Amino acid sequence: MRQSHFFVQTLREVPAEAEVPSHRLMLRAGMIRQVVSGVYTYLPLGYRVLRKIEAIVREEMDRAGAQELLLPAVQPASLWQESGRWEDYGKELLRFEDRHERLLVLGPTHEEVITDLVRNEVRSYRQLPVTLYQIQTKFRDEVRPRFGVMRAREFIMKDAYSFDVDWEGLDRSYQAMYRAYERVFRRCGLEFRAVQADPGAIGGEGGSHEFMVLSEVGEDSILVCPHCEYAANVERAEARVPAPQAAARVPEKDRFLTPGAKTIEDLRIQYGLEPEMIIKVLIYRADGRPVAAVVRGDHEVNEIKLRRLLGVRQLELADEQAVRALTGTGFGSVGPMDLGIERVVDDAVAAMPEGIAGGNEPDVHYRHVVPGRDFQWEKQGDIRTARAGDLCVRCGTALEEYRGIEVGHVFKLGTKYSEALSASFLDEQGIQRTVIMGCYGIGVSRLVAAAVEQHHDDKGIIWPMAIAPFHVHILPVSVKDSGQRNTAEALYDRLTEAGVEALLDDRDERPGVKFNDADLMGMPIQVIVGKRVADGMVEIKWRRTGDVELLPVEDAIGRVTAAVRNP
Ligand code: ATP
Ligand code: MG
Repeated sequence: MRQSHFFVQTLREVPAEAEVPSHRLMLRAGMIRQVVSGVYTYLPLGYRVLRKIEAIVREEMDRAGAQELLLPAVQPASLWQESGRWEDYGKELLRFEDRHERLLVLGPTHEEVITDLVRNEVRSYRQLPVTLYQIQTKFRDEVRPRFGVMRAREFIMKDAYSFDVDWEGLDRSYQAMYRAYERVFRRCGLEFRAVQADPGAIGGEGGSHEFMVLSEVGEDSILVCPHCEYAANVERAEARVPAPQAAARVPEKDRFLTPGAKTIEDLRIQYGLEPEMIIKVLIYRADGRPVAAVVRGDHEVNEIKLRRLLGVRQLELADEQAVRALTGTGFGSVGPMDLGIERVVDDAVAAMPEGIAGGNEPDVHYRHVVPGRDFQWEKQGDIRTARAGDLCVRCGTALEEYRGIEVGHVFKLGTKYSEALSASFLDEQGIQRTVIMGCYGIGVSRLVAAAVEQHHDDKGIIWPMAIAPFHVHILPVSVKDSGQRNTAEALYDRLTEAGVEALLDDRDERPGVKFNDADLMGMPIQVIVGKRVADGMVEIKWRRTGDVELLPVEDAIGRVTAAVRNP
């Protein structure tokens, strides 16, 4: 590609709306432009990267035995009503009407449509197992689209769905996808971790893993054990509970006044009470009914765990007025004793030998409160958010915390959709059975941003060879110099013939402009054709290290070709 004709416009200014490096760099390099909030056009430079990633995904899906198809973006509401997600999915699901006033949705995901297909096509166990996939545009009306294509409303996903006759089959299909995902992300040149995940809105009874690209700007927090294999999204990470200490005789509970203290922090500053000694109570509304979540003062309630333990859909914190009405006191002095509300106690609280708790009257606390002696509870479990320093549930080592960008997600769905939509088959005995499903997503367009996040410096992008828009950027310093121009053209022809994708900067621009644009756009190799061409020499600059080598033209061709073939 000759840059003089290439549809690309780099930006010198840093776009004000872009908060993270990948968004800034993708705009500045001329890869993407926003059309409306969370909806983007991929310009040729950006689209080349997207297509390379798609090609890798496709190869690995095919290698794993999955078959590609293409489902529609528009889906009938009736299928979502059948699965129950018409109610459950919320406002992210874009709903609209056609001219016949029939309700439709723009697909945020395709479990319903694919299950409908399979229930109509599959009759017998002989047609199973099968894994089907597509690479397609999704629409989710995200509350807060941000970070460019990282969290967009319209984005490109690879979604795959497996159909098996039994759970052992699902395990095999899941493993095959899991391994394919590892290969995809490795080939894209990314540093990633597979972590245990919360099944979330897609639901399902089986296991689930997320693939996280490690990055400071990631929206997810993950806890990783440095000793064993354990790694989990903080949404679901478990942490070992301290063994209950053999309680020495604890004195009677003892009332004391704490005027002015509304928070755990106030109690620490004003009364010198350590947060880990405090028994904290938060009042929630769970599907309408009040529930008291009881955790240690230095712990946070994990609402995902709490919701799962309670088996409810809706969970929200009660406001202070509601708390007053329910407990007789405001924030700061609510406690677990004599509370006429269902109590859910975290394991770490149950293990406390004694603690300090609110007295359910304004400005009153009690010390020497013993869980089990001074108050009881209706439910107990792990309802707190694990954090760095907590002990690994498998091996007891202190966990480390990282930020990650979720680029892939694999789920064992089981029969959630096949049951709701009656997707069944006849087994060898002629007995009708429900299909066992798995689903597997890769955020193809998010991957582009994640790759930039991991591979850039203050000058611009540094593409891994496998997903670079071009392998090499040829930069004649002055196109007015016929020696330089001719050598650059010859290099371009020779490399192109050898199967190397080259971008030739044939623009009549100042050298500084060309070098800056080349560093910004980030091709892994630059070939600089300058004055030394008079002696038949050109420079190769490796974008990642900045190393420059002066070589005869022939050797440069050999070096570049070899580097592209064996990156
Ligand atoms: P998130 O928690 O980031 O919203 P999700 O759990 O909703 O993701 P899935 O439904 O599992 O995501 O979708 C599969 C993949 O699609 C995700 O792993 C992610 O890489 C990608 N993805 C999801 N939402 C978006 C989005 N708004 N923009 C870009 N990619 C997305
Ligand atoms: Mg989401």
